[in-house]
Amino acid sequence: MNYKSFDGDDLAFLKNLCGDERVTAREAIGEDYCHDELGGAFARPDVRVQVVSVEEISKVMAYASEKGIPVTVRGSGTGLVGGAVPLEGGILLDTSAMTRILELDEENMTLTVEPGVLLMDVAKYVEERGFFYPPDPGEKTATIGGNISTNAGGMRAVKYGVTRDYVRALTVVLPDGTVAELGGKIAKNSSGYSLKDLVVGSEGTLAIVAQATLRLLPLPKAKISLLVPFPDLAAAVGTVPKVIRAASVPTAVEFMERDVILAAEKFQARRFPDSSADAYLLLTFDGASQREVDLAWDEAAKTCLANGALDVFISATPERNESIWSARGAFLEAIKASTTEMDECDVVVPRSHVAEFVLFSREVQKRHGVRIRSFGHAGDGNLHIYVLRDELGEEAWRKRLSAAFEDLYAKARELGGQVSGEHGIGVAKRPYLREALSPEIGALMRGIKAVFDPKNILNPGKVVPCE
Ligand SMILES: Cc1cc2nc3c(=O)[nH]c(=O)nc-3n(C[C@H](O)[C@H](O)[C@H](O)COP(=O)(O)OP(=O)(O)OC[C@H]3O[C@@H](n4cnc5c(N)ncnc54)[C@H](O)[C@@H]3O)c2cc1C
Repeated sequence: MNYKSFDGDDLAFLKNLCGDERVTAREAIGEDYCHDELGGAFARPDVRVQVVSVEEISKVMAYASEKGIPVTVRGSGTGLVGGAVPLEGGILLDTSAMTRILELDEENMTLTVEPGVLLMDVAKYVEERGFFYPPDPGEKTATIGGNISTNAGGMRAVKYGVTRDYVRALTVVLPDGTVAELGGKIAKNSSGYSLKDLVVGSEGTLAIVAQATLRLLPLPKAKISLLVPFPDLAAAVGTVPKVIRAASVPTAVEFMERDVILAAEKFQARRFPDSSADAYLLLTFDGASQREVDLAWDEAAKTCLANGALDVFISATPERNESIWSARGAFLEAIKASTTEMDECDVVVPRSHVAEFVLFSREVQKRHGVRIRSFGHAGDGNLHIYVLRDELGEEAWRKRLSAAFEDLYAKARELGGQVSGEHGIGVAKRPYLREALSPEIGALMRGIKAVFDPKNILNPGKVVPCE
């Protein structure tokens, strides 16, 4: 696609609209804005514009559309698939200054926010007022706009679902600058196609999330975590469906292996409560009363012990909970710190196939001579499999990574899984999405993109599979 080259007139227009301080041109743009947390995808925008209102976004888009300038939206840049990298240059539309919490509606239990509000600030704000925003992705400095656009998951998905389940309404700006309201403060809706749900998870390729109304729950009154060591991974993961089938669904069910725990201990310079077993389940239960939570964890503990668990460590104090969960939260960074470069496969498979998939990843490790580490959300089948470069030269790394990924994504397809459970497609996983979709579904996706964005100016080169 031919886009207009960004020139002095375009810069003057944006400076006139937003002011000099919020518009940064080419060489003055810091390297941080040329990539996200994925290694490997890097591109410099022609201009970075920090927007502060729906109206400003609308005016920038109307201008970009008229001129044919590509626009890539960026929140905090914590994405793991290169989604916020401006592959075609043009405008990087930065929402990080739109940080106002606009309304807490206690009767309808909703919170309306601007897209740049950080996840951690949403959680803190509502919890201080007795409410609960359940989605709990690991990276708390991500923006809500980014979370919505990637349909971010997180630890509590097994009981509470993912970001999409908590988006009641969106104010969006379409690629031509039109402002549209999708959804509402309503608990159900059967009124035609759900465009709100289509925009959620569309990674900034269909529309810009300019405001969001989120659904809240009452804050659970009690919470407990169990750390359960098992002799091996198959025993640990094989117990998960039995725990979930029990009367109380756990809030979180994570699996972890010893070598990842050791990496986290080293990274954090802090001991994990136990690291003697090969594999662990980390379970959390929450509820409206201590009694409800006690009944739930007691049943889960018995199920684990009956299925080969070596012990059950109970973590009921905030300090102990913090030490376990902060180690869990550090896994990604710990693995990253243990190597020179890495790439991630974030597949989701049916819960019953988690153990098979992880064991398969060990075969892939041997087959292609690359180190692979994994951990993940055993409760919802979403795995994080990291292929590590270590000391491999550029050519060997690219070759082996690609061969390992081919095998991993093929296995996920064979098991009835999907390419991404929560990190999205961006640029990095686009070829694998193409392989996973039938030609008809690929054509439907291209058709949807063309309806929203006929000039293909919004985040070009992402998500939508090529023909
Ligand atoms: C240590 C670590 C742990 C992580 N853990 C998790 C996890 O548990 N679960 C999970 O799901 N993800 C996780 N992530 C990935 C990442 O945090 C999420 O993808 C997050 O939703 C990205 O938000 P962001 O504000 O950083 O968005 P960015 O990276 O800036 O952008 C992500 C995508 O959303 C688009 N976008 C951003 N804002 C808007 C907007 N307002 N309108 C339209 N499009 C927009 C961008 O164009 C891009 O395609 C983790 C990342 C790291 C580094």
